[in-house]
Amino acid sequence: MDLTRREFIADLPLLAYLLGHPLELAKTPRILINPGHNKRTANAPGERYISGVGSEHELNTRISEKLANELASRSGIEAVLSRDDAEYTKEIRDFYSPNRMQLEREVRNYRRAHKPTTNLTVEDAALQLGILKWANMSGFDAVVNIHINFYGDEDPKRKSSGFAVFFSDINSPKSSMDLALRIYNSLKERFIPSNNESESMRGSTSPITLRGIATNRLIMTGSELHPVQVPSVMIECGYLGQKYADGKTIADSQVQRAYAQQISKGIIRYFG
Ligand SMILES: [Zn+2]
Repeated sequence: MDLTRREFIADLPLLAYLLGHPLELAKTPRILINPGHNKRTANAPGERYISGVGSEHELNTRISEKLANELASRSGIEAVLSRDDAEYTKEIRDFYSPNRMQLEREVRNYRRAHKPTTNLTVEDAALQLGILKWANMSGFDAVVNIHINFYGDEDPKRKSSGFAVFFSDINSPKSSMDLALRIYNSLKERFIPSNNESESMRGSTSPITLRGIATNRLIMTGSELHPVQVPSVMIECGYLGQKYADGKTIADSQVQRAYAQQISKGIIRYFG
């Protein structure tokens, strides 16, 4: 049989099977880290900012960069960041620009049918939808969305604190829940889960309530109209105004690193 090199490589798993040697193809897991929001949304309504702590979108970037570094130094997992402080990657921009009108149309149609659960503008929601579609077709093995929660001045009595991990219970692979649970368990080793009741899950057959993990239906995790093919989770790294040991906040690079380390451990265990 005259096999070209390409055909031969394609037949390697079959050959290994026939020879009785299970072959692990050396595929490095590749994940997309998507820091929530961006500089364009900095002055938009709902932008999360606390004087003395900073803007959510910038702090999301700091945690995401540290997470990518953790993954690079501790595992073979390749992490790609969707943006830096200035802009989204060229690949994302190249996908988004020609599709922008169509993406915005999809967001408007979606919002007519389903009340939006976020205060993202149509433009920003369309951008997130573009990132999702791009990630779906770019062969990523997981998408991790990094955010920081906010209780806002409008309700200071609530004083929510603690981390939360979200996955969608609709139009998302089952592995999204596995990934969310791995990250949740890892974060719990060093951080306290959210005390906010809306960020918890109640067992359907048991009285157990898990705080700090919950389902949501968002563009980036999977929603009624927008299926996610790649396992995707969203992490709220505590609350923007939350105080950690010694009065530190999420603006402190040690706190950011601790989040990055625990999230990275969870991701490594998921791929382990
Ligand atoms: Zn956010």
